[in-house]
Formats: sequence, C-alpha cells, structure tokens
Amino acid sequence: ATEATELLHVAAVSKDFRGLKALDDVSLTVTTGEIRGIVGPNGSGKTTLFNVISGFYRPTRGRVTVAGRDLTGRAPYRLARAGIARTFQNLRLFGDLTVEENLLVALDRTGTVQSWRYLLRPFHVLRRDRDLHGQARHILDRYGLTEFAARPPKSLPYGIQRRVEIARAVAAAPTLLLLDEPAAGLNGEEVRQLREIVRSIRDSGITVIIIEHNMGLVMSLCEQVTVLAGGRVIAEGTPAQVAATPAVIEAYLGD
Ligand code: ADP
Repeated sequence: ATEATELLHVAAVSKDFRGLKALDDVSLTVTTGEIRGIVGPNGSGKTTLFNVISGFYRPTRGRVTVAGRDLTGRAPYRLARAGIARTFQNLRLFGDLTVEENLLVALDRTGTVQSWRYLLRPFHVLRRDRDLHGQARHILDRYGLTEFAARPPKSLPYGIQRRVEIARAVAAAPTLLLLDEPAAGLNGEEVRQLREIVRSIRDSGITVIIIEHNMGLVMSLCEQVTVLAGGRVIAEGTPAQVAATPAVIEAYLGD
C-alpha cells in the first residue's frame, strides 16, 4: 500500500474579528483521497475555516499549506489555481447564464494564462472550444443535468441548483473540494443522491472536506470528522469516536 500523503495542512490558525476569536489555534491535516467532515454548533467557526483555506480571509495567525506549498493569505483565484474549489452555503451561481454556461466558465479557468497563444493560433481556439463543450456535456450527463443545460439556474428547483453548484466546482478540476453545507434544504432522496455524488467525486481522485449539519450524512460519508466549538478543535476521529466524546455531546446540548 502507498503511504497516505498530506494534502492540506492547517497549522495553528487563528482568525480574529475585532474582539472575537472566530478561529482560535486550529490545526488539522487532511490526507489525499479522504472525505473529511467538519461539524460543530452554529458560530463555531466552520465557514470561517473554509474562508481561510480558500483565501477569502487572511488568517490572523498560522499557516495554510496545500501539497507542501505555503499558500497562507493568497487571493482566492491563486488558491483556485492551486487546485482548491468550493461551494457556498448560499448558492453563488451565475443566475442569468444557462447551466451549461456556468460549467463552461469553470472549465475555461485555465484559459487566461495562455490566452495570447490562442490569439496567435486561431485553430486552437476552435479546437479548444469544442473540447470545452464536450467536457461540459460530459459533466451535465454525469450529474443528471442534461435536461436543464439551456436553462438559467435561478429558474430551477433548489435541489437542482445545489447540484449545479457542485458540478461547477468539479468542472474546475480541483484536487481539493470544499462543500459548505451541501445538504441544507435538500429532501431525503436528494440527500441520498448527494451522498453518491460526493462518493463518486472522491473516487475520481478529488479530496473532499464537507461542512454539514446532517449527522446521518456525515456518519455515512466521512472517514474522519473534526469538531469545532467556539473556534477551537474539540475532537477529531472517526464519526463513532467523536460522537462518543463527552466534550462533543456537551457542545451540542447548547446548540
Ligand atoms: P459556523 O460556520 O460554524 O456557523 P462562522 O465561521 O460563520 O461559524 O462564524 C464564527 C464566528 O465568527 C461567529 O461568531 C461569526 O459571527 C463570526 N464571523 C464570521 N465571519 C465574520 C465577519 N466577516 N466579521 C465578523 N464576524 C464574523
């Protein structure tokens, strides 16, 4: 068997907002191929942690390294280029573009770097656009979105919009995918579909970190769970281990 390799390392990260310590000396390591759960009561710092990892917030203290590269405080687009994609609690799709166009925007993310080359070699522009449309159709098919391809996300049911957001994040070909409460607002059947989608994403080689309140989903999906409370890590281990930790039970009683 090959050694488990460290993909993400959050080292002693704190994030202060004026007097408030949203994150207080948080450390965690995520291994390539893992599905990691992040749980904790409301206000415990989960989304702040995602914002630090994905570059939306600069940590007050501490480091974030991805595949051994120190990316602390880099801008979100730099972290996206380094292979980190994310979804948001409140969907952030381009509501007026079509579903397919939302995917094309993500698929095109590598285009900016070498766009001058394509300007000089028009043939490649054509071939590349054809490739992108082919890839978009493949993703639409894989996520059961083909019938919605030409529609704007805002015209679609909420559960479908959530699926579009995940598909768009995966279209960027990340190594690390951050899902912020992907099951929020989904019905039971949609949660079951989500579980299979996340498993297939992981099986395709993408490491996943998932913030989730749906404990059934966390228990059945995650190998390791990190529990935050008051901006600190209060437990870490398998779902069964953390569920049996007194500090975790205590943290949730007040929620
Ligand atoms: P969770 O995702 O676990 O519900 P958050 O990370 O959203 O928790 O919030 C943790 C704490 O940090 C909360 O007290 C919240 O009010 C505060 N917080 C988060 N973002 C900001 C911000 N941009 N400015 C001020 N306070 C913030």
